[in-house]
Amino acid sequence: MRISLPLLSTAVGLGLTVAALGTGPAATAAAAPQVPVQAAQVGYQAAAGSGEDAAANRAFFEAVIKSVAEKRAAAPSSAAAVTVYYSAANAPSFRTQIARSTQIWNSSVSNVRLAESSSGADFAYYEGNDSRGSYASTDGHGNGYIFLDYRQNQQYDSTRVTAHETGHVLGLPDNYSGPCSELMSGGGPGPSCTNAYPNSAERSRVNQLWAYGFKAALDKALQKTSQR
Ligand SMILES: [Zn+2]
Repeated sequence: MRISLPLLSTAVGLGLTVAALGTGPAATAAAAPQVPVQAAQVGYQAAAGSGEDAAANRAFFEAVIKSVAEKRAAAPSSAAAVTVYYSAANAPSFRTQIARSTQIWNSSVSNVRLAESSSGADFAYYEGNDSRGSYASTDGHGNGYIFLDYRQNQQYDSTRVTAHETGHVLGLPDNYSGPCSELMSGGGPGPSCTNAYPNSAERSRVNQLWAYGFKAALDKALQKTSQR
């Protein structure tokens, strides 16, 4: 089941999924949240005129970082690394790839770590069929999620797709013109590219974002808490 949409240049989604329509393999998993018109999205492959990508990625990253910062403001911790919790309950076919992506990121960066949680996750993975392919998005209510498309994950290396989308959670934007050694080049280097590791520039960027970007988000969350 495909929804015929023009190539999405402005990340306008209808939020319909196969699960919502009750057919296909996705019917067994929960549907991805409805994507409102203003929702920000970044995909695995370049869409025509994807000038919105940088802004969409920022919106997505900000949703995740805010969720993590608010939790830490409520329960201060002295741990240097920040933990971002995810739920994989709605992407049962991708358990292996999600675990592998988590392992790749946790061995690649030091200022943030990913961990699975059965409740109160900062973002969630979903699976299904979508003509837009896989993407990272927000639901318009400040919650981030990653959608993994069945067809795209057969065409492209599935661990790379998963690690790439997870790169958005950690704040990296797309760079489709980059080489295969760059994780955020996504579908740019073509289906033969199977590298699922971020390169050194991507690793440093994530470490920076979670050292400085997170500090700013935490200050904001602490301000909000003290105003209550
Ligand atoms: Zn992407």
